[in-house]
Amino acid sequence: MAQIDLVNVGKTYRSAQREPLHVLNGINLSIEAGEVVGLLGPSGCGKSTILNIVAGLDTQYSGSVTIQDRPMAEQLASGFRVSYVFQESRLLPWYTLTQNIEFALRAADFPRQEWADRTNAVLDLVGLSSFKGFYPGQLSGGMQQRASIARAFVVDPDILLMDEPFSALDELTARKLRQSLLDIWSKFRSTILFVSHNAYESTYLADRIVVMTSDPGGKIAEQINLRGIARPRSYDDASLFEKSKDVIRILDRRPAAMA
Ligand code: ADP
Ligand code: MG
Repeated sequence: MAQIDLVNVGKTYRSAQREPLHVLNGINLSIEAGEVVGLLGPSGCGKSTILNIVAGLDTQYSGSVTIQDRPMAEQLASGFRVSYVFQESRLLPWYTLTQNIEFALRAADFPRQEWADRTNAVLDLVGLSSFKGFYPGQLSGGMQQRASIARAFVVDPDILLMDEPFSALDELTARKLRQSLLDIWSKFRSTILFVSHNAYESTYLADRIVVMTSDPGGKIAEQINLRGIARPRSYDDASLFEKSKDVIRILDRRPAAMA
């Protein structure tokens, strides 16, 4: 049984001022529990829209989205947890690092006795233990993004959604964060669905890459299986480079009329 199942999902934005905008067409995607899936495609093809639908934030779509064979709302009501990491860290500036993490624990109804242990454990995992009392404004961009990953994992999410989480960072900082992410993932085994515009990053992180096109509505063009590349992976692995070339080749494909 797939954990996340999108069947024939479509999304259309309607407004009085213009023609309806068909953003997603016939999206079929099944994701297994614990799988790491990367979503790539041109800007505007509907990647963030898919994340919002899977998060339960956008309920205005056609087709069906089920989590473990149950409707999303039912699943969330039964304590199933979805965490969302955005491109910018979205920490609350008037709270310290600890208070930001506790905010997530409170929202997810964790008993107060567990807060300190859980907070310490995740801050330790992302290497921020010595910055607990700092405010977001006192941390670098990379540290803030690290904190937002800690905040996402502190609630033991069943599903982790990430929308271009490393794209604002320099490559070395991004590499450290991808490592932290995979370290945490190997402990928790949350299902991860992430959006990226970086083919190499995606091949490094994912079990599978889903490449979308805009036709003009977003569709899945092709999927690339990366299970054959053993973990832990190395950026110097030639097979990663080959797979990322495949991704770029698919992204670059144009209908004949446009070529
Ligand atoms: P991506 O993340 O792949 O860049 P999005 O999912 O953010 O794409 O957006 C897909 C398309 O939907 C874009 O053309 C965007 O302009 C449009 N769109 C997104 N949100 C809205 C909205 N609230 N109202 C109208 N159009 C929207
Ligand atoms: Mg987007």
